[in-house]
Amino acid sequence: MTTIASNLQAVRNAMATTAAEIGRTPGGVVLLAVSKTFSPAAIREAYHAGQIAFGESYVQEALEKIAALHDLPLEWHFIGPIQSNKTRAIAENFSWVHGVDKLKIAERLSAQRPQNLPPLNVCLQVNVSGEDSKSGVAPDEVDGLAQAVTRLPQLRLRGLMAIPAPSDNVAAQHPPFALLRELRDKLNRQGLSLDTLSMGMSHDFAAAIAEGATIVRVGSAIFGQR
Ligand SMILES: *Cc1c(COP(=O)(O)O)cnc(C)c1O
Repeated sequence: MTTIASNLQAVRNAMATTAAEIGRTPGGVVLLAVSKTFSPAAIREAYHAGQIAFGESYVQEALEKIAALHDLPLEWHFIGPIQSNKTRAIAENFSWVHGVDKLKIAERLSAQRPQNLPPLNVCLQVNVSGEDSKSGVAPDEVDGLAQAVTRLPQLRLRGLMAIPAPSDNVAAQHPPFALLRELRDKLNRQGLSLDTLSMGMSHDFAAAIAEGATIVRVGSAIFGQR
C-alpha cells in the first residue's frame, strides 16, 4: 500500500470506530479529502484507494487540478474563503461550496451556476468560536442568512460548516461542534431540512463525529504535512 492509501485506511478506521462508539452508522459520515497544496498525482493515488470527494481552498490551483484530473469521476468541494471575483469559476466547476457567509456571495453563485448543472450544494459557515479574525456568520445571524439562501434557485442549502479555534484538549473541542449542531437543529425546527454538518479536521474529527458531523474535512492526516 502507498502512504496515502494507508493513511486513508487509518482515517476511515478511526471514523468508523468513533461512529460505532456513539451508535452512529459509519455510512452517516462522509470523508472529504482536503487536497490543497498537493499534486494531481497525490489525488489520483487517493482516488485509486477509493476516495471520490476532494476539498480545495484556492480557486486557481483547484482549476488546474480539476483540468488535470478530468478523466476521473471526482466530486469537488470548495472550502476556502470566497472572493466575489471568483464566484463564477466556483459556480461552474464545483459540486459543493462550504464557506458561504454573505448573501451577496450566495446570490452571485446562484446567478452564475450553469442551468445545465444541478443546483450547487451550499453550507453556511458559522463563526462558532467568536473570534474577530475568523470568517463566518455570527450564530445569531445564521437564521436570516439561511432563510434568504434557501430562496435562491440555483443553490441547494445543505447545512452548516465551521472551523473552530484549534485545541489539543479533546474536551474543549466538543462545545463549538455541539453549538453548530444545535444551530442546525433549530433551523430544521423552523422548517428547513438541512442534512449536513461540515465540521472536523485532522486534529479534531473524532470530536466532530461525536457531535454529529456528516462531513469531515481531512487533509494532513491523509496527504501529510503541508
Ligand atoms: C486545510 C483545511 C482543512 C484540512 O485541514 P487538516 O488539518 O490538514 O486536516 C479542513 N477545512 C478547511 C476549511 C481547510 O482550509
